Parts: sequence; structure tokens; C-alpha cells
Amino acid sequence: MNLEREPAVVAAHAGTANMANEMPEIATVGVVGAGQMGNGIAHVAALAGLEVTMLDVKTEALEKAMATIGHNMDRQIARKIITEADKKAALARIHTATGYDAFRECDLVIEAATEKEEIKRSIFKGVTPHLKPTCLIASNTSSISITRLAAATDRPEKFIGMHFMNPVPVMKLVEVIRGIATDEPTFQAIQVLAARLGKTTAVAEDFPAFIVNRILVPMINEAVYAIYEGVGSVAAIDTAMRLGANHPMGPLELADLVGLDTCLSVMQVLHEGLADSKYRPCPLLVKYVEAGWLGRKTGRGFYDYFQTPPRPTR
Ligand code: NAD
Repeated sequence: MNLEREPAVVAAHAGTANMANEMPEIATVGVVGAGQMGNGIAHVAALAGLEVTMLDVKTEALEKAMATIGHNMDRQIARKIITEADKKAALARIHTATGYDAFRECDLVIEAATEKEEIKRSIFKGVTPHLKPTCLIASNTSSISITRLAAATDRPEKFIGMHFMNPVPVMKLVEVIRGIATDEPTFQAIQVLAARLGKTTAVAEDFPAFIVNRILVPMINEAVYAIYEGVGSVAAIDTAMRLGANHPMGPLELADLVGLDTCLSVMQVLHEGLADSKYRPCPLLVKYVEAGWLGRKTGRGFYDYFQTPPRPTR
């Protein structure tokens, strides 16, 4: 199997041999949230040979996630990245659940539920009594403070940010974010896991939105302001940034891929966390989210995906 197996750059870090010895081994992973990120994380973890239990509050989300994983693996087979046998073995390693008890054997739980702090806090409160004392917890949050989320658990020293990019099977980067209490063995274990998943890590400090979204989401918000102020249409802005800045996707196409609710919530976290008006969310972005036009996942955002090819909505 050759699933984007470039050698992962594990960030140099002053760990002692003794600490490395204490590093917990990760063989069984729980994933909370079976949305676009959760299913991608389950996908790469299962292909890397880990046992995976994917949990969601909605059984439909679990069914949709399993279908998406199968479909995305078929694309990897067509591109000769994996074989039919790899797919079969990986799918057999993914289990689904709606109750936290299914996580009792997990070495790591990765939380990839909706980007709302109260939802994540209630998940940590519910899940921790079911976990082994040695189980690590990672959050895939795009923007929320790792230190604050860690404080909502019974094990802040075993809590870390593991921020995958979308789509997870394709994108090479994982941002790793330590909270104030995160210990060295947890940090090292997550670096090793990221390398096993074929990912390269970048270490970010625990500031609102970390590195990628601190830079990327304000650019998306600025593109929405450019529509709002009539600087250009959706098509003009995306064409301008694709051809003028050599970006592989325009910012509005990218916003639809990320999810406009996620983009808005990152802007709100930046605005509140850094108290700088330059991060104010564009009112038009708020309006799209209020309309339920969240991008690809709901079929409509800055483009209407019910049309082929997708038609700009402005
Ligand atoms: P999504 O809306 O596709 O999926 C979220 C899933 O969480 C849904 O299936 C929902 O039913 C489930 N959920 C909600 N409450 C739950 C609960 N209490 N228990 C279990 N499941 C619950 O969202 P997504 O895009 O997959 O984002 C998930 C997380 O990943 C967010 O924290 C987001 O910020 C982060 N993230 C998103 C992207 C992106 O590009 N979309 C990139 C990196 C990180």
C-alpha cells in the first residue's frame, strides 16, 4: 500500500529517551463525530492499520460516513494508491457506535464534532468516565483553545490539539497544539501517530485558530467582504485568486468546502480571542449561515451544487 507515504517530518523536540519510553502506544482509536472530518480521520487511521470506532449522535451520519469512506477508498483504488484488499481490510477495522462505552479499549479518542465549545465540553464530560486512565484525548478543533478544552476533562496532561486538514485522506498536514498542561509523552505519541498516518506535522502554539486558520480564514472573510461591498462577483473573486495568486482553489470555493458555519465560528473565535476589529465576521457570511447555506455539505453556499457545474449564488 502506498498511501501518500512521504516521510513525515516529525518536529524536532527536546524529549529524553526516558520520556520516549513512557510514550503510550496507540493501536485503537475512537473518533467522535462522523462528519466530513471524522470520516476522513477514520479513513486514514483504518488504512494505517489502527482499530477505529467512529461515534456520532446521529445514526444517519454514521451510515453516510461509512458510504463516504467506501467511495473515497474507491477513488484511491482507481488512482492505484491502495488496493481492493487494503480497502476491505480497512473497512473491517472501522466500527460505529452511538454510546461512549464503545471507547473503553481506546488508546486515543479524537474529537471531531461540530465546532461549538459547549458541544465539545459536553462530549468530554460524557466520554471521560468510559475511558482507560491511560487513554489520550485529541481535539480536531479549528480554533478553540486547547488549554480551555483540556480543562473540561479529567486528564489535561493527556489532552492535545490534532488539527487535520480537509479532505483528510488527501491533505498532508496535521497541526499539533499543546495545551499548557500537555505532557511530553502525549506530544511524542501524537507525533508518531501523525507520521504513521503519512502526515507531516507543524507545531503551533495555543493561540486562537493556531497557524493555518489564523491566516486562511481571515482571507476567506475578506473575500466575502469583497462580494458584500460589490468589489467583485463570486466567480470574479475566485478566478482572480486562482489565476492571480496561483491558489489551487478560489477563497469562496474553499469556504464552501470547509463549511461556512465552521468559517464563521473561526472568525468569532479570532474576534473574541484577539479582541481586534480586523477579525469581525462579514455580515454576509453570517447571513449565509443563518440561511443554512453552509456550502457543499448542504448543497448550497457561495455556489449552488444542485446545478452542474455548480452555479455562483451571487
Ligand atoms: P460536520 O458538520 O461535517 O460534522 C460534525 C459531526 O459532529 C456531525 O456528524 C454531527 O452529528 C456530529 N456531532 C455533533 N454533536 C455531537 C455529539 N455530541 N457527539 C457526537 N457527534 C456529534 O463538521 P466537520 O467539518 O467534520 O468539523 C468537525 C470538527 O473538525 C470541527 O471542530 C471543525 O472545526 C474541525 N475541522 C474542520 C475542517 C473543515 O474543513 N471542515 C478542517 C479542520 C478541522
